[in-house]
Amino acid sequence: MKINVIGAGLGGLLSAASLATEGHEIEVFERLPITGGRFTNIEYHGFSLSTGALHMIPHGSTGPLGNLLRKIGADVAIVPCKPMAIIRIPVDGSNNYKSGFKDISFNQYGSQFSMWNRLKLSILLVTTRRWPPKNISFENWICKYLNEDSAHKTANSFCGWALSLTNRDVPAEEAFEIFENLYRYGGTGIPIGGCKGVTDALVEIIRSNGGKIHKNTEVSQVIVEDNTARGVITDGIKNYSDIVISNIGHPFTRDLYDSGAIDNAYEEKIDNAKPSAGIKICLAAEEPLIGHNGILLTPYCRRVNGINEVTNTDPNLAPAGKHLVMAHQSVQQEKIDKIEEEIEIGLKDLKEVFPNKKYEVILTQSYYDGWPVNRASSGSDIGNTTPINNLYVVGDGAKGKGGIEVEGVALGVMNTLDIIKQ
Ligand code: FAD
Repeated sequence: MKINVIGAGLGGLLSAASLATEGHEIEVFERLPITGGRFTNIEYHGFSLSTGALHMIPHGSTGPLGNLLRKIGADVAIVPCKPMAIIRIPVDGSNNYKSGFKDISFNQYGSQFSMWNRLKLSILLVTTRRWPPKNISFENWICKYLNEDSAHKTANSFCGWALSLTNRDVPAEEAFEIFENLYRYGGTGIPIGGCKGVTDALVEIIRSNGGKIHKNTEVSQVIVEDNTARGVITDGIKNYSDIVISNIGHPFTRDLYDSGAIDNAYEEKIDNAKPSAGIKICLAAEEPLIGHNGILLTPYCRRVNGINEVTNTDPNLAPAGKHLVMAHQSVQQEKIDKIEEEIEIGLKDLKEVFPNKKYEVILTQSYYDGWPVNRASSGSDIGNTTPINNLYVVGDGAKGKGGIEVEGVALGVMNTLDIIKQ
C-alpha cells in the first residue's frame, strides 16, 4: 500500500518506520527543516536542549515505546532511571523550602502520613487496582480518601511533571490507569543521545526501507473523495495514496479537508480535547545539582513540578564536565497570557530548590496552542480514527488509554497499525 504521513513528529515517524518495515511505500511530509517535532534536540553551545520533551521515556525500555522501537529494530539504548523519582519535602513541616528540606524516596513517601492514613493508603493501593474510581477528579478522590495536604501537593507535582496538568484536571480513572501502567511496564528511562537518539533512529529505518521524508514541505490539504482520503496536496502537487496518517492532531487535521457533512459527535470531542501547556527552564551547572538520573519532584514549589539531570545518564548531552538540568512547570490555560510572570516565579522556585548552588539559566521555553506539551490533555484523547475513511490521526492528540506522553503516542500508533491491518 502507498501511505502518506503528515508530520515527522514522533507519532508520524513511528507509524512510518513500522509500516516501512512491513514493505509499504511511505512518504512523510514535514513542514519544518528538521524531523522529530517536539521530540528532538536543539544544540546550544554543546548542550543538547530539546524542542519539547525532557529527554525522558516514561516507562523506559520496557514500556510501549521501548517495545515498539525494539520490534522494528530501532537502534536506541534506553537507560533506566534509578531511583525513578525522589520527593523533596521541607524539614520543619513548613510549606516551602526556605528553611531547609530533605529528599525521600517513593517507598518512604507514606511515612509522612498519619497512622490512620498510612493504613488507608495500603488498603487503597490494593482496592483501586481492582475497582478503579469512576467519574471523579484525582483531586476530589484524594480529598475523599486521603485528605492530607502533602498528598495533594505530591499528586499535583506528579500530574504537573507527567501530564502538565493539575490533579484537578486529571480524571482519577486516568491517574490510576497511569499507576497501573507503572506497575505493568516499570519506571522511567533516558535514551542515549536524548530525544534525537530516538527520532533519528526512526528516520534511519524509514530511509533504509525505501521510505521518503520531505522536509520543508507543508501539507495544505487532504484529498477527500467519497468521504475517503485519497492523498495530500503539497506546494500545489497532488500526492495520491491509499491511506493518510496525520501527526498534527485532530483539530489541525480537520482543517485540512472539507468533508461536506459535519459529524457533531466528532466536533464535540475536538472541542473537549484541550491542549496542556507548560514551561521548561534549562540550567547549566559545573557540579551536579541533583546527583541522580531520576526525577526530583518538588511538591512545595509554587510552580516548578519537577526537575531532572539527564547528564547523569548521558554526559554527552552537555560539554565535558558540565551538567544539563531541566525543570518543568505546568501552566493553566487562564495563565497563558501571563507566561512571563509564570517563568519569573519558576526561576524564584529554582533558587529555593538549589540554594547555594551555582548554575546558569541557558534557556526558558514555553509551550501552548500549536506547540503544546500535549495536544490533548490526558483523559481527553480522541482516538485514532476520523469521520473520513482511511484518514487516521496519531501523536499526543490521539494517545492510547493510560499512556503517559510518548508511551501514549506509541499505544496510539500500535492501535492505528492494528486498524489498518484489519
Ligand atoms: P509532534 O511533535 O506534534 O510533531 C508533529 C509534526 O508535524 C511537527 O514536526 C510539525 O512541524 C509537523 N506539521 C504540522 N503541521 C504540518 C503540516 N500541515 N504539514 C506537514 N507537517 C506539519 N514526553 C515524554 O514522554 N517525556 C518527556 O520527558 C516529555 N517532556 C515534555 C516536556 C515538554 C516541555 C513538552 C512540550 C513535551 C514533553 N513531552 C514529553 C511530550 C512529547 O514531547 C510529545 O508528546 C511528543 O513529542 C509529541 O509527538 P507527536 O507525535 O504528537 O508529534
